[in-house]
Amino acid sequence: MQNGHALEKQQFLKLFKQEGIDRLDDRVAILEIFLKTEQHITMPDFVKLVKQSHISIQPDFINDTIKLLCKFGFAQKVHFEGGPVRYEHRHIGRHHDHMICTKCRKIVEFESNQIENIQSHIAASHGFHMLQHKMELYGICSKCFGERPVTVPLTVVKSGETLKIKEFLGGSKMQSRLTSMGLKKEDKVEVISSYGKGQVVVAVDNKRFSLGRGLADKIMVQNLGVVQK
Ligand SMILES: [Zn+2]
Ligand SMILES: [Zn+2]
Ligand SMILES: [Zn+2]
Repeated sequence: MQNGHALEKQQFLKLFKQEGIDRLDDRVAILEIFLKTEQHITMPDFVKLVKQSHISIQPDFINDTIKLLCKFGFAQKVHFEGGPVRYEHRHIGRHHDHMICTKCRKIVEFESNQIENIQSHIAASHGFHMLQHKMELYGICSKCFGERPVTVPLTVVKSGETLKIKEFLGGSKMQSRLTSMGLKKEDKVEVISSYGKGQVVVAVDNKRFSLGRGLADKIMVQNLGVVQK
């Protein structure tokens, strides 16, 4: 991308001069630092990066410049669920989508002509003129998935996952409580929501259950299709 970046700088200078944008040297310094960043950076992290480059520029000015970079198509804002606003390079004529690990927040970029074509076809078949789209896959990256024990308490499972109940911990009282609620081993549980210290809302057999965290902690679940070691 080095040549590409030189080209970006040329276009940047041309446009910013044409628009009469002030403090061009400082703006270029910011652009150069931005073009060296990898992937998706938050504004506070970018401000830190500029500081590390021993350039004394006010955060407001950096913020303003990034906004201009977005306006003129050098950068773009990305905002993934549950995370901060981030900025990434925008390469004209190129497009990618994202996978986001809900555990470690790792962001993986991917390109798929197949998906792009299907989306256009679907839009067209609805008589819909598509202008833009976002394709975001939320899940657990291979590293996080590999680190997780085969059987875990329901409380550590992220929203959106479907697992199988393996066992109930706690005494017989706890067991009969869960059984009387209608939960049993080998049931498939879909986690609808599970945040912080709040309830864990799950669906089993098309029925919704709201479980306190203490109770959910006693329910051990396992990935579907995983053979117990
Ligand atoms: Zn796409
Ligand atoms: Zn991860
Ligand atoms: Zn990206």
